[in-house]
Amino acid sequence: MERIILHIDFNSYFASVEQQANPFLRGKPIGITGKSQERSVVATASIEAKALGVKTAMSTWEAKKVCPTIILWPGDPEKYSDITSRFNRILSEFTPNVSQFSVDESFLDITDEAEDYFGATCLAQALRERLREEFGDHITASIGIAPNKLMAKLACESVKPNGLTVVRKDDLIDFIDTRELDDLCGIGHRIKHRLNALGVETFKQLREFPINDLVDEFKSYGTWLHAAAHGHDSSAVVSSTQKGIRTMHSTGVKSYGHSYTLPQNTHDLLVIKRYLLGLADKVAWRMRRDKTLARRVSVFVRFGDFTGHGEQRTFNEPTANGLKLFQIAWRILSPHLSPHSHPQPTGRARDTDIGTTLSRPTSDRSQSSYQGLGSPPNDLVRLVGLSTSLLSSGPEQPPLFKKDRKMISVFSSLDKLQHRYGPGVWQRASTMPIEFKSRSSGFNYDHEV
Ligand SMILES: [Mg+2]
Repeated sequence: MERIILHIDFNSYFASVEQQANPFLRGKPIGITGKSQERSVVATASIEAKALGVKTAMSTWEAKKVCPTIILWPGDPEKYSDITSRFNRILSEFTPNVSQFSVDESFLDITDEAEDYFGATCLAQALRERLREEFGDHITASIGIAPNKLMAKLACESVKPNGLTVVRKDDLIDFIDTRELDDLCGIGHRIKHRLNALGVETFKQLREFPINDLVDEFKSYGTWLHAAAHGHDSSAVVSSTQKGIRTMHSTGVKSYGHSYTLPQNTHDLLVIKRYLLGLADKVAWRMRRDKTLARRVSVFVRFGDFTGHGEQRTFNEPTANGLKLFQIAWRILSPHLSPHSHPQPTGRARDTDIGTTLSRPTSDRSQSSYQGLGSPPNDLVRLVGLSTSLLSSGPEQPPLFKKDRKMISVFSSLDKLQHRYGPGVWQRASTMPIEFKSRSSGFNYDHEV
């Protein structure tokens, strides 16, 4: 039986929540930032700010440059997650088959409830009305309805903000052909460039491209791309009840990560190392708390001009050891940071990295996500991040050496302390000179991912 999937996506979510809460902000260009606005980015721009050229993830100074009248407003992650759970509770009044996709997006399988596309449209209208009653006029959502999740999301994207559209099976191909390749969830700018390099610029060309050649280029992803270009997607809407009650610390987590915007942009490798080690410990603690081990670590840096570099490494023995994660991360990151000598401070010569400076390899320019507006090149490091993936459930294999076994028992005690007294109850001596200021936002930068 043909399925009917509804995708709902709130418009300028954090910004519209604030506009709903505060009439002064309504109708104005606003940008939701972290707590420390000077060094933050715009996590969400209001519809008015977007119209004036402000984009998500722009630095606050750049947003001010583009839109001098913008009101920068510190975000309130707790409020947003509360609204997200209320919003998902309302969705589950309409069908038990609700799957949350992100903080402001969910999928609903409404095949049984709607019966046909007319029923689906009525359901969508009723859903909107219910959300308006609950949240008010200023928090709006776009809705796409289609035979599968991928197409429902693409449909929803096409009617932002605040639209509603239905794409039936027979109209899928015509609809896809009105969209750009990177409108599709799953085609990022890198995949798009690789497709372009193969001469594929449109979905029509993607459909006509021999599947074997796609598989040669993209492996199993090639099969997915081929199916996607035909509007096919067989993934199911798996609701949280089907998954088992999903708690914060249980199923569904695919990765753990932390990133941190440094208090000052820096060239100092030692400072960067210390923050990276601190981040690795934060990630490792969350993994041990969830009895999870990882076999992959990813590390990334962002420079003062918002270009960046990231890399990952997979290893055989799963771990939740912060020091190990840090060591692997540093090994893969450091060759990409070309240190050049710098006057050595005296008296601290034991650490060979002290006093070396860091400059970005020129190749990173090509990996920039976007360039600052006419700003001079700035290769000081602004942000470091580390995340783990390829997770399995623990516990870790007992190590061979007594010294390492001892460390495990030390950590299990430290973990108990942290569980009881919260983060910050212990810190490695080597990271003592650094201080993690309280997390400035629950999203985008400085975040758990
Ligand atoms: Mg949204």
